[in-house]
Amino acid sequence: MNQGKTQDIRPPRVRFAPSPTGALHLGSARTALFNWLFARSQGGDFLVRVEDTDRARSTPEAVRVIFDSLEWLGLRGDEPAVFQSERRAEHARRAHELLERGGAYKCFATADELDEMRRAAKAEGRPMRYDRRWRDKPPKTDGSPFAVRVRAPLEGEIVIRDHVQGEVRVRCEELDDMVLLRADGSPTYMLSVVVDDHDMDITHVIRGDDHLTNAFRQTLLYRAFGWEAPEFAHIPLIHGADGAKLSKRHGAVSTLAYRDAGILPEALCNYLLRLGWGKGDMEEFSLDEARAHFTLAGVGRGAARFDARKLSHLNGYWIRRLESADLLERIRPRLEEMLGGAVADLSPVARALPELRTRSEDINALAASALFYLRAPRNADNKAAKILGEVDSARWTSLEKFLGGIADADWHAERLEIEVRDFAERAAVSLGSLAQPLRAAMTGTAVSPPIFGVLEVLGRDEVLRRMGAAFGLESAD
Ligand code: GLU
Repeated sequence: MNQGKTQDIRPPRVRFAPSPTGALHLGSARTALFNWLFARSQGGDFLVRVEDTDRARSTPEAVRVIFDSLEWLGLRGDEPAVFQSERRAEHARRAHELLERGGAYKCFATADELDEMRRAAKAEGRPMRYDRRWRDKPPKTDGSPFAVRVRAPLEGEIVIRDHVQGEVRVRCEELDDMVLLRADGSPTYMLSVVVDDHDMDITHVIRGDDHLTNAFRQTLLYRAFGWEAPEFAHIPLIHGADGAKLSKRHGAVSTLAYRDAGILPEALCNYLLRLGWGKGDMEEFSLDEARAHFTLAGVGRGAARFDARKLSHLNGYWIRRLESADLLERIRPRLEEMLGGAVADLSPVARALPELRTRSEDINALAASALFYLRAPRNADNKAAKILGEVDSARWTSLEKFLGGIADADWHAERLEIEVRDFAERAAVSLGSLAQPLRAAMTGTAVSPPIFGVLEVLGRDEVLRRMGAAFGLESAD
């Protein structure tokens, strides 16, 4: 099918084609994001194709990880996902079609013969290239096993005008007649990708630049089939701070590990986007904002360096930017996990959220810092225990009484501060000598949001309850 000029005017169709390998690497997440943004910025379609032909690695769990990761990032496909393994018969059929048309031929070279070619190439220090010994021979008819190889052009060039890499070319002499179907009849990866991209009507292939060399062979295959090749954009891989390709030794590379570490998907998308794509000096983008600006021309050619500090910083930004109700729902599961059950009333946390959200760069820490609003501390950390150990119990009792007498209408942070200041003055002690033990008693720690705000949120009854229990707190450390 020749798509001719229509390809230029119809909306793009792109695909994200991960292999299920157990985790979705951050680099793959970024590839998905760039594809999604490109489609969205042009009113096109974003499709997902699971390249699961390696049966040993493609477990249902690994497939689920891909969808969980995409779902979490907010990058859903516009059509049901395609599973490459289900299309094997179709891949083989296309190879046979090509065979009948003379665009491919049967190769009866044995494993030993191929080994011999490999050895000879090695000895001469050149890459192994099949010597085309069956290209022009009449095929055997005795039922011997054969591979199907493409009849590649012997001369000329393959030129790719890549949206990121610019013009890249290779001489046809450098490519051999690659295998399309192995002797056991199974299709090769190169064949599957081309047939799938063609059948899915893909207009642009946007992927990591580790696939650039594949693009030459794939283009050659498009030619053999008589199909128009898609446009290509090969984006630079993500590197660690040391310049090596981002891998486990640089820290977590699995997308879901960032979710589990309390990173917001908005922050990870924002970060991955900025890693290799820019719009002036704008740093913060929601997906919606980015799609208004995204172009492939904005993708840089240099390798991007992963910087965990910057990701944290953006996460802090997103923690402050999300709507309160939304943020609350994001931390709910974490709170419930810590509390061991559903939380009916999150309103104390909701009231404390404006203060809490300025203090955390990940939502796990945010949830942990919010816990004491929902449950009285069971123990006191070292510092808090020490502070409580130094409290004058008579003064504590009179402070308790004093706070107990404050009218409901006055139970708010500003008024409480004035009242406790007065109390401290009358007792000739510093404000800190009351505020610190109050904090220790309310939170079990020596650090928290401003204490009078904490007292306001907890309410008088709860404050008095925690004051009463303060000396019974076990030491946590
Ligand atoms: N399945 C390949 C990978 O995960 C991607 C192939 C492609 O995008 O063409 O690296």
